[in-house]
Formats: sequence, C-alpha cells, structure tokens
Amino acid sequence: MKHSLLRKLVFVAAMPFMLASGFSMAQEESIRIVFVGDVMLDELPGERIAKGFDPFAEFADVFKSADLSIANLECAVGYKNQPQIKAMKEDKPYTFMAHPRVLPLLKKHFSAVSLANNHSGDYGPVAFEGMLSHLDKAGVKYFGGGRNLRQAHQPALFTVKGKRVAILAYNLFLPRSFEALDDRAGSAWGEADYIADGIRRAREVHKADFVVVYPHWGWENEKLASRTQQRLAQFMLDQGADAVVGGHPHVTQNIQIYNGKPIFYSLGNFVFNGFDTVDTNTGWVLELELNAAKAPKWRIFEARMDKWGVPKHKGLLSNVNLTQPK
Ligand SMILES: [Zn+2]
Repeated sequence: MKHSLLRKLVFVAAMPFMLASGFSMAQEESIRIVFVGDVMLDELPGERIAKGFDPFAEFADVFKSADLSIANLECAVGYKNQPQIKAMKEDKPYTFMAHPRVLPLLKKHFSAVSLANNHSGDYGPVAFEGMLSHLDKAGVKYFGGGRNLRQAHQPALFTVKGKRVAILAYNLFLPRSFEALDDRAGSAWGEADYIADGIRRAREVHKADFVVVYPHWGWENEKLASRTQQRLAQFMLDQGADAVVGGHPHVTQNIQIYNGKPIFYSLGNFVFNGFDTVDTNTGWVLELELNAAKAPKWRIFEARMDKWGVPKHKGLLSNVNLTQPK
C-alpha cells in the first residue's frame, strides 16, 4: 500500500517534467530554406527588369512560403557604362555587371545572396567594394564576399523559430584573383582550412544549430560531380555541416547522401541568358527542410529558362536519382 502510494507520488511529481519534455518535442519545428542556383542579372534578364518585369515572379510563392530563401548572385552590381567602372573591367571572356535597379527585386525575394562565385569580381576589387555599398544601401543581405578576408568569410546568420541558421559560401572556380584578402575586397575562396574554420566558428562562435555550405564549384556542363567536388563535400559534412548545396556547372548535377546528410552538387542556372540546351536552361529550386530531431528532407521544383533567361515554373520534380559516393 505504502509502496503504491510512493509510486503514485513519484509519477505525479514527474508529470510536469514529462509534460515539459513532450511540449518541447512538439515545438521541434522544421526550418525550410529555399535555394536557387546562379542568378545573372546583366544582359537580357537586366533588360527585362529595366522594362518593369520581375524575373522571379513565377517562384515568388515558393520563396515566400519558406523561412529563408538564398540565391547565388553571379554578377557584379554597379554602373558599368561609367568610364571609371568600364576601365576596371577584367580581361576575361564573359563579364557581367547588373544595374543597381535590380536590387529591390533581390531584397523582395531573397533573405541573402552569395557573392562567392567567378563573376562577382568581374570589374575588380574596387568595383566589388562599390557593389557591397549598393547592396548595403538597398538592404540586400550578402555573404561569401566582403570588404576584406574576415568579412568575406562571415556566414549569413539567421534566427528562425528560435534556431540559429548559418549559411557559408565559398568560391572554388578560378580566377582566384577575385579572392578577398586582408586588405582587398572580394569573395571567399574555398581553401580547406577556411572551410573547416568557417564551419567550426559557425557552431562555436555563432552558436548555429544548422550549418549549410553553398559552394561554387565543378566543371561546366558535367552532369556528375567530379572527384574533387565529392571529396570536398564529404569534408564539409565531416567538419560538421548539415547539408551542401552547390552551383556553377550551368547544369544540375547528382545528389548524394553521405552519413545521412544530403549533397546537392549543382542546382544549375536559375536566371541566366545565353544558353541553348535543355540541360543548361533547366535549373532546380531546392526546398530543404532541416529539423534537429529528424533527417533532412527536401523537395525540388524544376525551373526552365525562356529566351530571356527567365525561369518558368515546371512543377515538382518527382524523379531524382540518388547516387552513392564512390
Ligand atoms: Zn559560376
């Protein structure tokens, strides 16, 4: 009799804790982040924007329904017709600089844009710094690039539903001369030491609950990730990232699961003119769902670019091949 009373008392005493833990489990909400691939807003997409057209309109609802939306801004931003800017243009086959009029659209649709790519520095470090001023003025959050090395390697940080999210971007495609240095503005170069340090600092200094790496890498037009991409992606996940979402090859690449964590090697183009094959005109809009208590989940929407390089929504992709790491 006494024993059963004791058991009852213990049970009643434990109830608030049981309720509390049950409550916190119910509170473990998923965070949804939408990633798109390469966004180039010079040339034809820029001309469309100048005429009042919004190239992101078809996916506006997808971006809006997510907690965060991220794009890779594959161009500089500034006034490229000004003689002093024109004189700074780098000597390379393709150079892109979008007019600052595009910035309100980036602000409207994206939580942050990455500058870690092989075109953000197309007009050199002084124009790169000018681009940062345009972005700051327009209230467009950026990462993977900065006024110096330290700033370029800062993650984009967000607090969503009480959780800290850190997104790190690195460029791994030449030219390396676009890289930020201690005293030079530019993008974040994906040296292994930088990547390891960036992920560690995201966890330890910025107290991130979730860390996603968004690299710019790989060979153009290759549908399967290279050995280098595979090795680096696994390194990023071994260092503590939760997922890797890449871009640059102008086509979508394969997806792998490594130790339960997804690697999307390339989302392909999103807004970009000048391509003439189905593969190069097709991009993925990835909706990644992160939850501390469950494995990551995702959905992919297909985007097909028109003759202006503007994406059309082609619906949910039902057939995505997973390939295992070799
Ligand atoms: Zn690129």
